[in-house]
Amino acid sequence: MENKLSKHGVDFIDDAKLDKLARSIKEDKVRVREIIAKSMEKKPLEVEETAVLLSAESPDLVEEIFNAARQLKKDVYGNRIVIFAPLYIGNYCVNDCVYCAFRNSLRTTVRKTLNKDELVAQIEALEGKGHKRLILVFGEHPNYTPDFIADTVRTVYSIKKDHGEIRRVNINAAPMDHEGYRKVKDSGIGTYQIFQETYHHETYAKMHPPQTHKGDYLWRLDGLSRAFESGCDDMGIGALFGLYDWKFEVLGLVTHSHHLQKTYGVGPHTISFPRVRPAHGVALDEKYFVSDHDFKRLVAILRLSVPYTGMILTARETMEIRREVMAFGVSQIDAGTRIELAGYTKKDEKQELNKEQFQIGDVRPMEEILRDLMDNGYVPSFCTSCYRSGRTGQIFMEYAIPGFIEKFCTPNALLTLEEYLVDYAGPETKKVGEKLITKELQKIKDSPQKKKLLERLGKIKDSNERDLFF
Ligand code: SF4
Ligand code: SF4
Repeated sequence: MENKLSKHGVDFIDDAKLDKLARSIKEDKVRVREIIAKSMEKKPLEVEETAVLLSAESPDLVEEIFNAARQLKKDVYGNRIVIFAPLYIGNYCVNDCVYCAFRNSLRTTVRKTLNKDELVAQIEALEGKGHKRLILVFGEHPNYTPDFIADTVRTVYSIKKDHGEIRRVNINAAPMDHEGYRKVKDSGIGTYQIFQETYHHETYAKMHPPQTHKGDYLWRLDGLSRAFESGCDDMGIGALFGLYDWKFEVLGLVTHSHHLQKTYGVGPHTISFPRVRPAHGVALDEKYFVSDHDFKRLVAILRLSVPYTGMILTARETMEIRREVMAFGVSQIDAGTRIELAGYTKKDEKQELNKEQFQIGDVRPMEEILRDLMDNGYVPSFCTSCYRSGRTGQIFMEYAIPGFIEKFCTPNALLTLEEYLVDYAGPETKKVGEKLITKELQKIKDSPQKKKLLERLGKIKDSNERDLFF
């Protein structure tokens, strides 16, 4: 590895500044409302403005923030939720992250890398459930080279069973050098995701022993900048909540987002905000664990701070929390998740903690989650069209383009949902889904676009055509 930072490889996180912003601002209702109003105009917030929202503690003001986040989510994203699944490829790891059951020094963890046959079986199982988007997860290990990752991605795209195919593969793996990113990008990945875990330097050093690869804070912080310089233009950032003060981490995420936007003209495509979960062989100080109430606050405030960034809520959280938090601005969730290596072909649904990175909270099967979403008025979407039509990075202005949702997201959500209903859903889900599609179609005004949409829906149902998108 060449070990060269990006052209702009600087440490842009100022702990003293963020700590002060997280702690010293006194609640000011007028100021909070002014900032909410700015956000409702879909303008991204400055770090200082985000800190003002974080200072709101009175229940009525917090409720105003929740309401604003709900409204903004509706305005920017409508009622769609994009569905994906994680697939763990290998859990060998040279790092020793204190909070992780895959850390190198933990000898009781069962280690595994999927071989080719196992990979094929996992993909076929995922396709058989109706998945179209995956995120492949790799530990950090000399075996998981950029070539290995790129080969895995190509294999995943090549596996097609019946109507099943994976149309977008995202990656969660260690930060690479420029050449590594280029190789992986060439295999056709969507988003490259790297979580900083904690933006607080001292905590970072405590959680990631300095002698390990991950112990290098700046190498990781700079990881997505190098990815961008190497041609990746969809980037996912994230923090693991529960390691340090949650308000600090929110400010860290917003600072990171601004840095990418200012330096490269493209902010992160997604933000993730996992909370620490119980895990095999892990005992953490609970001082910074985030309560459900504060979790809701952080999701709502992130929504208001970065109106156009996708927000991912994973099955780490329980069904109840997912239901509630979804409304505050989440745009993507995973469904039917299994994080044990080769877990998608396992008959027994029991979680085995010494084979998993952490314990998941929402273990419901995919179909049950989709039905629950539809019962609550959401449209599950398997859309991958932007990435496949070249609408990415700088030219991927996503929801910022007036009419984008009407033109692309809604019709694509309905088309991919129809595919799911025809190919994978049981009778009850089908009934709920068809009713929802009819209801959504009624909301769309008559136009040549609607005519095309109706034709394409017909082709899926009656002519067995697939992968029709706008
Ligand atoms: Fe390895 Fe990732 Fe676990 Fe750290 S969090 S020990 S890098 S698998
Ligand atoms: Fe996402 Fe583009 Fe599909 Fe909308 S049309 S859901 S932005 S991929």
